[in-house]
Amino acid sequence: MRTHTQSIERLVNKFSSLGGVGKKTAMRYAYSIVSMSKHDVEDFCDALIDVKNKLQYCSVCATFAESAVCEICQSRASDTVCVVSFPKDVLSIERAGGYKGLYHVLHGTISPLDGRGPDELRIKELLQRLQNGNFGEVILATNPDIEGEATSMYISRLIKPLGIKVSRIAQGISMGSDIEFVDEVTLARAIDNRVEF
Ligand SMILES: [Zn+2]
Repeated sequence: MRTHTQSIERLVNKFSSLGGVGKKTAMRYAYSIVSMSKHDVEDFCDALIDVKNKLQYCSVCATFAESAVCEICQSRASDTVCVVSFPKDVLSIERAGGYKGLYHVLHGTISPLDGRGPDELRIKELLQRLQNGNFGEVILATNPDIEGEATSMYISRLIKPLGIKVSRIAQGISMGSDIEFVDEVTLARAIDNRVEF
């Protein structure tokens, strides 16, 4: 039995396709849209298209940017690079404050089970960047789960021969957690208390 109209059903399905959105939440979102004015809905659609048109990856660190080089790469001079899996992790660390260095986004983790090897990540770009620049330290801030640990381990082995200090965030973040959801104080402390590989 169909509980919504066909168009609402379609919208609910679209929302449920988003990460972390369950059927109930999707339904709530869909009905919020239905109750909005036509102008507000158009504005909402425009925001979706706009972000897709404007967003690109920073040519240096590969986080989201609205120009060829992101604001962080443009405005910071640092010899420290913090390596994260996803652009949203840059945001989490920035929000935690404290860290004033540069970033490098891998766009994933090594996951043999999902058929994702090192070549699928931006590891080659990281090594090139490290070889061409003057860097003193690389902080590996992938998630403290099995894939994140394996990815950090793999990268640390590649960086060590370059003579650059490699450290791993550790303290205070429990195994299996997601950087994105770690509270700001814990995350800031984890970066401060990083341990050398
Ligand atoms: Zn950048």
